[in-house]
Amino acid sequence: MSITENVARVRAELEAAAVACGRDPREIKLCAATKMNDADAVREAIRAGVDCCGENRVQELTEKLAQNAYAGAPVHFIGHLQTNKVRQVVGRVDLIQSVDSLRLLAAIQREAARQAIVQSVLLEINIGNESSKSGFSPENIPEILGKISEFPNVCIKGLMAIPPIAHNSGENLKFFQKMCDLYVDIRNKIEDNVKVDCLSMGMSGDYRDAVLAGSTMVRVGTAIFGARDYKNLSAK
Ligand SMILES: *Cc1c(COP(=O)(O)O)cnc(C)c1O
Repeated sequence: MSITENVARVRAELEAAAVACGRDPREIKLCAATKMNDADAVREAIRAGVDCCGENRVQELTEKLAQNAYAGAPVHFIGHLQTNKVRQVVGRVDLIQSVDSLRLLAAIQREAARQAIVQSVLLEINIGNESSKSGFSPENIPEILGKISEFPNVCIKGLMAIPPIAHNSGENLKFFQKMCDLYVDIRNKIEDNVKVDCLSMGMSGDYRDAVLAGSTMVRVGTAIFGARDYKNLSAK
């Protein structure tokens, strides 16, 4: 299957999932998770109509930006971002989906202020409470919202989550539902909440369940590009 055919198939499945739960399919954005795929693969996904691209690693983002790989689609950062690399990401992506600490939020604020821009972000939630994953716990959210005025150059547009690896379909539905509750709660609490419009959850193995639970953006890699070849990772 080509990338073009895969994008069409994923779209059709997203649409079917939306219709199945009475949602408007246009509410659900498809983000191509492009890690370890080259500029040509990214261009094919964009031509096939993905809504945006999500990159995980700063180095890959920088390389593909230089190759103009994302022309025609917004690009998001979706990987763990170290504070010392914030300069290479802020102002270069439309959305940083993976803000996982107050320290990172503060670093993004400083860099965005220096550039005199407003950087859109999502807060990453460690919804499965896994020690192997970064992210805020749901209990941290009130504290962050209480400090929102300290971050005038950051616009919080919603939440992102990567639930635990599921071994059976349906296993993550409870995490997706918790995320949706949290998202609705946040929208009610943020004053300027017209801008809060993104709940990013669902990947190749579970995007259908994510849509059923209320996701507005799925991040899909394998189902679009095929399996990643991790053998080459150390060489990159
Ligand atoms: C790789 C990645 C995805 C996509 O994963 P697939 O299972 O390949 O669809 C989604 N989100 C993030 C943050 C990722 O790193």
